[in-house]
Amino acid sequence: MTDSIPYELDDLLDDRNRALHAEVASQARIVLQRSVDHTWGEHSTRLEVTISVAPSKAPQASFAHELLHAKLELEGWRRPRIIPAKPETFEVVAYLYNQLAHWRMYPDFERMGYPASQFLNDRDSDEIRSLLKRDIPTVESLYAPARRPLGGLLVALPFIASQSPHQEISGNLHLLKRLHRVSDAHLLRDISLLLREVQGDSGSDVVEVFTRLFHLCGQPEVRFRPAF
Ligand SMILES: [Zn+2]
Repeated sequence: MTDSIPYELDDLLDDRNRALHAEVASQARIVLQRSVDHTWGEHSTRLEVTISVAPSKAPQASFAHELLHAKLELEGWRRPRIIPAKPETFEVVAYLYNQLAHWRMYPDFERMGYPASQFLNDRDSDEIRSLLKRDIPTVESLYAPARRPLGGLLVALPFIASQSPHQEISGNLHLLKRLHRVSDAHLLRDISLLLREVQGDSGSDVVEVFTRLFHLCGQPEVRFRPAF
């Protein structure tokens, strides 16, 4: 196996993502690298955007997806710092940040003209499904003894995983129904509203979104600060 990336830049560009690529390239140097784990990814500093490239059924759409992540971060919608910093919270916030970024950027992906089915690659969709299959039975087993609706990150995490901004949840619908049966309905409603707010054009601030989400999940002591 070679270390070369599976595509040339020309293979990744089309008329739908060319302007976005130019916009990001005008603000930071874009470095393409071969993905080490067969998934696409993006990491940016103020000066450089690194995109990990993997084989894809729709490479231009995958490239557009990562460019949208980069655009968000260059606009300052970055994963916030957590105070106090704890490794377990870090993991959760990294995961949630990725999901919230998807909500935030999906309208742009749609406006660019890509079909909803190309927003996530197959590996991402499979991963979400296996996460839900693992977590929802756990949530149900915790509900069973007292039959009291559950809240907190315990249900917020699988719920947010099951909610996709492009509404392609058909494969997860029965898992979502099971989650609804054991969860605090107000919490799920409030999280849905927050996700839609993130997706709207209200210019929601990432620190405020995380502060509110952790408040809803009964962890108001977790505080957030801008990344830099
Ligand atoms: Zn993504």
